[in-house]
Amino acid sequence: MITRLVQDHAHQLAADARLPAFVYDLAALREHAAEVKAALTAPGAPEIFYAAKANPDVPILRTLAPYVDGIEVASGGELAHVREALPDARLAFGGPAKTDDELELALKLGVERIHVESPHELSRLANIARTAGQEVDILLRLNLAGDRSGVALAMSGPFGMDPKLMESCTDILTASPWVRLHGIHAHLASGLNASAMVAQSTEILTWGRSWLDKIGHTGPREFNLGGGMAVDYAAPDTRFDWKQYGTEVAALARPGETLRIEPGRAISVYSGWYVTEVLDVKEAHGQWYAALRGGTMHIRTPVTKQHNQPFIVLNRDGTGPTVTNEPVTLVGQLCTPKDVFARAVPTERITVGDLIAFSMAGAYAWNISHYDFLMHPKPTFEYLGE
Ligand SMILES: *Cc1c(COP(=O)(O)O)cnc(C)c1O
Repeated sequence: MITRLVQDHAHQLAADARLPAFVYDLAALREHAAEVKAALTAPGAPEIFYAAKANPDVPILRTLAPYVDGIEVASGGELAHVREALPDARLAFGGPAKTDDELELALKLGVERIHVESPHELSRLANIARTAGQEVDILLRLNLAGDRSGVALAMSGPFGMDPKLMESCTDILTASPWVRLHGIHAHLASGLNASAMVAQSTEILTWGRSWLDKIGHTGPREFNLGGGMAVDYAAPDTRFDWKQYGTEVAALARPGETLRIEPGRAISVYSGWYVTEVLDVKEAHGQWYAALRGGTMHIRTPVTKQHNQPFIVLNRDGTGPTVTNEPVTLVGQLCTPKDVFARAVPTERITVGDLIAFSMAGAYAWNISHYDFLMHPKPTFEYLGE
């Protein structure tokens, strides 16, 4: 839902010739984060660590901070950035192929948990911890095969350790007093609805418990069940069912266990808008096009996900070329046929000068984009409702 605040701001930015712009509705983000947190209050319900890679902008992080238990970072860069933005935040550090420098930084900056991706990484971390004379608290990242059909993205391949590789960790752990194993981390897929997420969480818990039992792990246990809560770009007003997931997953927790999740997209995606204006309208070979200022070099999401980015037309009573009641393809300023925001979307009316507000631009949008391609001006950034 576009708020009056965002709409008015879009018109103001147009009047000031400051489009395209990313406009973030921090009030909406705050409200959404509060709802998610409220759904995770049953005894046993998971802690929530926001995955910074979805959108690490400082105003986003600061808005979320009161409603999350911590932040998950996936590189040394994110780690340094988040530590500076939120000096007191609890941090978990995941991510494949961590360098020694990154692991040392994690020790130095007080990361609460490191998610270890391989036996080699575990050995290196053990050496670093011993040299630093500093104990380090870890989860082992598990990569279960299983059936991930129907998910948006299966995180198979190189991430974490399959059950066979997990075995190689036990000797290293036994020999390394500086490394304390707290439990299991798994981020297996993204795009799961609440029922699928509960099923996947069950799978992780079942496997993890029996493995920890087998290696003789004692004491409190943690299970980080990952992120990947579904976001439906074709239905911008729907939300992942946090209440269902929160209630059902809380019931899975046993005494002495802490559950944790690390969603990114489903938290911040709804708070961002990419607002721009129509520069041209024309028909070519029977297809109507609206060419917009900016392009997918600013918001790569529709290209990577091969979807139509949802949008709203804000009419401005222009008198230029117009298309009415036709499917329209929205393109940007790049010299490539791949620069498409949305394809053949039935539209009432688009005129040169109208504003287009693309919704669901608050995650994996600007920060995954190749903005220097063609050297157009960078967008304006506005954070409303701070
Ligand atoms: C990307 C990622 C997440 C967040 O995924 P979303 O789909 O944005 O919720 C969580 N954990 C890990 C390990 C990731 O790589």
